[in-house]
Amino acid sequence: MTAPVTTRVEGWGMAVGGQAQVLQPTSAEAIAAAVQHARSKGLKIALRGSGCSYGDASCGTGKLVLDFTRFNQILDFDEQTGVIRAQAGATIGDVWQHVLPHGWWPPVVSGTMAPTLGGAVAMNIHGKNAYRVGPIGDHVLRLRVLLVDGTERDVLPDDPLFAAVIGGFGELAIILEVEIQLKHIYSGLMDVDALSGNNLAEIFQIFDDWQDRSDYLVAWIDGFAGGSGLGRGLVHIAHQLKPGEDAQPKALLSVAAQTLPSRLFGVIPKSWMWVFLWPFANNLGWRLVCWAKFWSGRLLEHGKRYRQGHAAFHFLLDYVPNFKFAYKPGGLIQHQIFLPKANAQRVFAEVFEIQQRHGLPTWLAVMKRHRPDRFLLTHGLDGYSMAQDFAVTKRNRHKLWQMCHEVDAIVTAAGGRFYFAKDATLQPDSVLAAWPHENLRAFAALRQQLDPEGILATDLYDRAVLPALQKLG
Ligand SMILES: Cc1cc2nc3c(=O)[nH]c(=O)nc-3n(C[C@H](O)[C@H](O)[C@H](O)COP(=O)(O)OP(=O)(O)OC[C@H]3O[C@@H](n4cnc5c(N)ncnc54)[C@H](O)[C@@H]3O)c2cc1C
Repeated sequence: MTAPVTTRVEGWGMAVGGQAQVLQPTSAEAIAAAVQHARSKGLKIALRGSGCSYGDASCGTGKLVLDFTRFNQILDFDEQTGVIRAQAGATIGDVWQHVLPHGWWPPVVSGTMAPTLGGAVAMNIHGKNAYRVGPIGDHVLRLRVLLVDGTERDVLPDDPLFAAVIGGFGELAIILEVEIQLKHIYSGLMDVDALSGNNLAEIFQIFDDWQDRSDYLVAWIDGFAGGSGLGRGLVHIAHQLKPGEDAQPKALLSVAAQTLPSRLFGVIPKSWMWVFLWPFANNLGWRLVCWAKFWSGRLLEHGKRYRQGHAAFHFLLDYVPNFKFAYKPGGLIQHQIFLPKANAQRVFAEVFEIQQRHGLPTWLAVMKRHRPDRFLLTHGLDGYSMAQDFAVTKRNRHKLWQMCHEVDAIVTAAGGRFYFAKDATLQPDSVLAAWPHENLRAFAALRQQLDPEGILATDLYDRAVLPALQKLG
């Protein structure tokens, strides 16, 4: 086994993390050897994909971090059926670039193409189409996993482990391979409708109007707007093209045609665009950015339909790859709350008001529609989510965490949930309030069976979930 490298491992938001020993295995044998090594030394292991979880979900302070990014081969792809099998470290970007020329696209993608399949499945990620097709777990055909005792096994959808490992945030088994059903696309383009809503009620109305006749729905919300404009925003509604709707359907079914430009205006490298955001990275500057974004969308785009490539529609955040650097030095956290449909509008309004009252408005809020699913510790429900980014500074850190706890109490009282991939602040009591206790007990029982020594343990698990399970008894 190669020697691990000791380095700081932090969440994507750069606000949490710590020193860890990091290994980047390139084979299943090397992964098994690392697990064996950790067991013999009494070391804990935190599994990590691309590290795109905002908080401490793939951090392992004082532990061995197994980084899967070099275990990333596409193993098999059937261009007739659209079934692909890949090692856990292959990214969503690797997958779409491999399959697009054959008329296929991943069934569920996140707002960046950087996540690995292992990380995406372990968190059971959702896309802007969650209300139609559910999370990624609903499209997994088979997993190959390594258990902590060294045995490898296939996990199929009828295996009780399937619904627990998917969304089990890397605490039950090590995912080695993922086999997934892709979705067929006829064109490299989609039709996109742009609408604006003057307040939260109008945004919800747009979602209601379109959810039965769209493939993807997403809203950006201006977290600074108050009064009668509270929750105003821009909604984008995408429709996959059907056969015959694109005169040249093959034209954009190539990676080169979909790839996001590497330079802004052909001059400024994308990786430096965050520098232009930096002067606005304060409440006043960001209020201005949000105001300009809302009004340009309302005046120039509202009611318009245009065509956009799949990559440009889905991976907007990759246009400014290092945008998070604008949040330096303190970084950012994201807090994504999920509410049942009956309570969502009321609670979202209350949450925006709380943030504004505390002087901690969200700088980026994104709303999506979801549906229930079969996974044990799922964040999915018949309702809506609001993902909200907050800048972290030395001065606001304590107050920000307290505000998130205040919001968590309101969310759980309204029957809501949270998303481990976006968490840095959740407390054990909120875990107990958000998930059915029978699900938490079933999860604890599986852990006891598969990993009795508790070798797999990320910082998130130690912080929020383990104490919750211990309280449950
Ligand atoms: C800009 C941005 C936009 C995003 N948009 C969305 C979105 O639209 N929808 C959404 O759902 N999420 C979104 N995310 C979150 C992201 O999709 C998830 O955090 C995802 O899990 C990241 O995958 P990763 O490979 O980086 O995994 P990591 O963040 O490194 O790890 C995630 C979890 O997977 C576990 N894990 C990693 N590899 C394995 C393995 N081989 N076996 C078992 N467990 C493993 C880790 O222990 C951890 O619990 C976004 C993130 C960013 C930064």
